Amino acid sequence: MTPQQSILQTVFGYPSFRPPQDEIIQTVIDGGDALVLMPTGGGKSLCYQIPALVRPGCGVVISPLIALMQDQVSALRQLGVRASFLNSTLDAASAHQVETQLLDGSLDLLYIAPERLAQERCLELLDRARISLFAIDEAHCVSQWGHDFRADYLQLSLLHRRFPAIPRIALTATADARTRQEITDRLDLAGARKFTAGFDRPNIRYRIALKQNPRQQLLAFLRREHPGDAGIVYCMSRRKTEETAAWLHEQGLQAVPYHAGLDPATRAAHQARFLRDEGVIVVATIAFGMGIDKPDVRFVAHLDMPKTVESYYQETGRAGRDGQPADAWMIYGLQDVIKLRQMMATSAGSEEHKRAEQHRLNAMLGLCEITSCRRQALLNYFDEAMPQPCGNCDSCLEPVDTWDGTEAARMALSAVYRTGQRFGVNHLIEVLRGNGGDRIFQYDHQLLPTYGIGKQLDNNQWRSVFRQLVARAYLSVDLERFGALRLEEKCRALLRGDEQIRLRRDQPQAKTARLQTRSALAADIDVALWEALRDCRRLLAEEQGVPPYVIFHDRTLQEMCVDLPRTTAQFGRITGVGERKLEKYGARFLQVISDHAGPL
Ligand code: ADP
Ligand code: ZN
Repeated sequence: MTPQQSILQTVFGYPSFRPPQDEIIQTVIDGGDALVLMPTGGGKSLCYQIPALVRPGCGVVISPLIALMQDQVSALRQLGVRASFLNSTLDAASAHQVETQLLDGSLDLLYIAPERLAQERCLELLDRARISLFAIDEAHCVSQWGHDFRADYLQLSLLHRRFPAIPRIALTATADARTRQEITDRLDLAGARKFTAGFDRPNIRYRIALKQNPRQQLLAFLRREHPGDAGIVYCMSRRKTEETAAWLHEQGLQAVPYHAGLDPATRAAHQARFLRDEGVIVVATIAFGMGIDKPDVRFVAHLDMPKTVESYYQETGRAGRDGQPADAWMIYGLQDVIKLRQMMATSAGSEEHKRAEQHRLNAMLGLCEITSCRRQALLNYFDEAMPQPCGNCDSCLEPVDTWDGTEAARMALSAVYRTGQRFGVNHLIEVLRGNGGDRIFQYDHQLLPTYGIGKQLDNNQWRSVFRQLVARAYLSVDLERFGALRLEEKCRALLRGDEQIRLRRDQPQAKTARLQTRSALAADIDVALWEALRDCRRLLAEEQGVPPYVIFHDRTLQEMCVDLPRTTAQFGRITGVGERKLEKYGARFLQVISDHAGPL
């Protein structure tokens, strides 16, 4: 057994590496540089933690997220790893103590904020210490397309010059080809080996449903599928986050709002609750997320559609970092499409920039309207091929019907044309269905040849037709008149009869709800034991002031429920139980299990 395998098992309690962890770790142990692209939850941390334990000296980890350092260090200490951090939250005396530990060789890992590392004083300290490696976490921060920490990250190129003999490993979850190139250039990593793990997050189930009654749909989803689970609900506006959180709270759920407009103390308190307590729901704008690496987020729900597939992927990627089943659930409807189309059209920026934005929005809308596997489409967007449908998205689990919408689409387009491209969807539907009304008579629309030709479809069906036509850019939204639809060039072929169009048949709400539900728990688990183990974990976490997942992950507790270990040796074989945790917690959890299952 190699030293790294032995550490994986005894310290971390995991049986084997996930490829390409083993190769990365070997590269760094051998003193080589590495650039690692791995999805969230892929297991990046082990790629530098284990080499730091194998190589002599202390591993220095540069991480921009000060708020996370404390938790990362607590988690390592739980495993018996000698870890500390240096950042602005430490007073002088504590910082001095850490420095002394570093110099006398009693640290395995040291987390340092980038702005601190760039200071000459810190560099001199590192000169005098024995360093095993530099790990640059969130390496995409060097990119000009990022990020708040860029200036500090750009300084990191000095590491190579100043410490040429020390291996460096740069890691990120978000890097397209352009960003990857920038990381390589700016961090001087041309000679590094590059490792890419696929983008796929197989444990996340993607679902996108029609928005009908948003609050009730959300509540039903939460109650039916995620009682007591932690998760994130994304909304577009600050006000909506507050209203939704308040409403969920009234319904008896533990929900708190989060957005950039809240005062810093409230924001920090809400984030802390989410991290430390179990089963808290954060209702947030996109301001929430960067630096949340809570492993047991069981769902990410979108009440509004993100503007790009990249954002959607990043936001949903916050679910299920622990590899356990998690849901990415979204509802979207005609109004979202119209609102986003309009926002894009009015956004500032060059024509080129606008075109790029439109293009990205089209891709996102395409993902919503697609009738084939969502995961295939997502991965395809990131240039990754997936030969078979995934079996774990709504399209796969409950295939969508399509219908020949050519005739209906022509009627709809013709209604837009005949009314002068000046009206919104509601009015157009009145015209198509031949409904009388003041506005109809005001404009003499009852005289149009399109008036009343679409009685065979009801309001919802027409809305669905219009939504899909706007989503697929047959229709655009007029800037001057809110919500007025205009014909696009693309319509011609359809109107001429040269093109057929198939439309998605939207599922009525009741049907969607029947999609078989599945909780994160294995089906045959003993819920009472599960709760008792969670209580035990919660107590231990409170005693030590750490989040519960730092004690054990859900997955580890679940394995206890299934395997029902009764001896220390059996307990030690559970995934996530290393030597140190066995020693510290084995007896307490074994007691819970034996209280529950009775004496042997
Ligand atoms: P990332 O930083 O890439 O988002 P983490 O390093 O936080 O991911 O790892 C995600 C989860 O996977 C953690 O709970 C970690 O303990 C677990 N993990 C990582 N590697 C392994 C492995 N080889 N076997 C089992 N679990 C692993
Ligand atoms: Zn699928």
